[in-house]
Amino acid sequence: MSDITACPLDCYDSCSIVYKEGKIKANKTGLTNGFLCPHLNHYTKHKTITTPKYKGKNISMEEALLKLKEILSSSYASEILHYRGHGNFALMQEVTDHFFASFGSYLTDGNLCDGAGEAGIVEGRGSNKNMTPQEIAKSEVVIFWGRNPHTTSSHLLPIIKDKTVIVIDPVKTKIAKSADLHIQIKPHTDLYLAMLLTRFLYINDTCDEEYLEKYASEFEDYYELTQSIRIKITLEEMDVTLGQIGKIIEMVENKKVAIVCGVGIQKYEDGADVMRAIDAFGVALGLFAKEGSGISYLGSSRANITSPFNKKSKKVSKVNTPFDDFKTVFIQGANPLSQMPNSLRVKETISRVENIVYFGLHENETSEVATLIIPAKDFLSKDDIRTSYSDNSLHIMSKQHDSKYGISEYDLSKYLCDAFNIEIKSEEEYLSYFKEFSIKQDDGLYKVKNREELPYKDGFDTDDGEFLFLEEFEKIKSENKKFHLITSKSEKSLNSQFTRDKYVYLHSSLGFCENSIISISSENGTIKLPVKHNDDLRKDSIMIYSGTKDINNLTSSKHSLDGKNAVYQELKVAIVKII
Ligand code: SF4
Repeated sequence: MSDITACPLDCYDSCSIVYKEGKIKANKTGLTNGFLCPHLNHYTKHKTITTPKYKGKNISMEEALLKLKEILSSSYASEILHYRGHGNFALMQEVTDHFFASFGSYLTDGNLCDGAGEAGIVEGRGSNKNMTPQEIAKSEVVIFWGRNPHTTSSHLLPIIKDKTVIVIDPVKTKIAKSADLHIQIKPHTDLYLAMLLTRFLYINDTCDEEYLEKYASEFEDYYELTQSIRIKITLEEMDVTLGQIGKIIEMVENKKVAIVCGVGIQKYEDGADVMRAIDAFGVALGLFAKEGSGISYLGSSRANITSPFNKKSKKVSKVNTPFDDFKTVFIQGANPLSQMPNSLRVKETISRVENIVYFGLHENETSEVATLIIPAKDFLSKDDIRTSYSDNSLHIMSKQHDSKYGISEYDLSKYLCDAFNIEIKSEEEYLSYFKEFSIKQDDGLYKVKNREELPYKDGFDTDDGEFLFLEEFEKIKSENKKFHLITSKSEKSLNSQFTRDKYVYLHSSLGFCENSIISISSENGTIKLPVKHNDDLRKDSIMIYSGTKDINNLTSSKHSLDGKNAVYQELKVAIVKII
């Protein structure tokens, strides 16, 4: 049995792990580079569910499976929804889709994370191929645009040592404090900064003319569009100076530049346009043509890998799921009662579902309301394979030990397929199928076959190979007096997994005392939280970490205009001190 596996968490870095003498250790090779983040270092300290439960009573796994079969038999297939999250991230997690799709039930589409940005990338480039950390290592200048590597991609940190670092972020993050330049931009004004940067590149004669001629012949029209921006008022709204724009241009001119974007910049209705405008800035600089240059976002972890599972089904959106249209909802690796936007709507619609089945590792708000709880096996006690949305690695996740607790996604699906006469292949066949998409490298790790190291160097994946620029955009709006809500990821939790935060963070000059309770409200709902001061925030913004209890009472279940994504930050909130 191999002692190599990989982190199962939904994270950019997809670390490779060596499991020795009952301990999780970082693999010394590859991007993992000998260290893991606190989530994995403390992974086994977090209590997992060990016993299946039906209506609050402990039952055996055999009874739980029989109960599940009974529940599914008592509903029409079209009255059943399978809602699957990425709490446990790997390719075999999707085998449950195979059962539910073949059974005739509903699956979900839409996205709670990166869908708007991806839509913008695909509109411009024709596909979403990522700049990998291995390429970023060759850059001279790295721009972290809304990405906080200390929290979400710590394995980039050793790579960027000795490089010029620019940070564009409304929060003075740790990386911003040590950066060569930090632009503490007003939230949701990134699109205008990207367009103005492109406009001034052109004015300064710093565009890559040769690249534009070959792969972006509509650039002049886009330049004209950038001219429709009224400079003075837009700079004021963004809280950015012309001097800062000039400084960025000076720092990137004739350099190998990596723009590393986070997902926060696109959690808005026009999130696709934001990403497309940043892409256009990269195109104007000719970044896609050069080694050590490009744009890194969240690449498709499934690129060049086809699924062996049947996933053809009717779908409802993951963003505004109409739970009460269903008699039975099977929830896997997700905590919709905490993590979906507009929690009050989610609570109300879920409360009308007759059977909630929760299949996962940890107790949470969703397991609390479940009729039937089925514990899952953790990644150490099952075989799986994972890929990454940061680089081209593919990790064989070898089972490290047997566990008497829980059931794997494959075993549960096999049980259901057998019970309802649905064809399913053996686990080994699926694992071998996925492994076929990889090749072994010299360091013993695997990578996905046939992915380009320098995507778009010979043109884009659009019909004519050229980049498609934005043709219109929403003009900047003047601000009202409410606060922007920033919903970053915290260092201690991964959304609602692990140690969840419980504060609202705001600038000390706003006049709210530490630990006083304030009420934060939006058009969707209200929450009350104790205050913590954080002068790294702007005075017009408050921050509540993703995973904080009830934070999504505030957020809206609207979709982004493109990409069917949640728009967690598309709102302003009011705050009131509670006396
Ligand atoms: S950095 Fe990401 S992939 Fe690596 S151990 Fe932490 S959560 Fe897992």
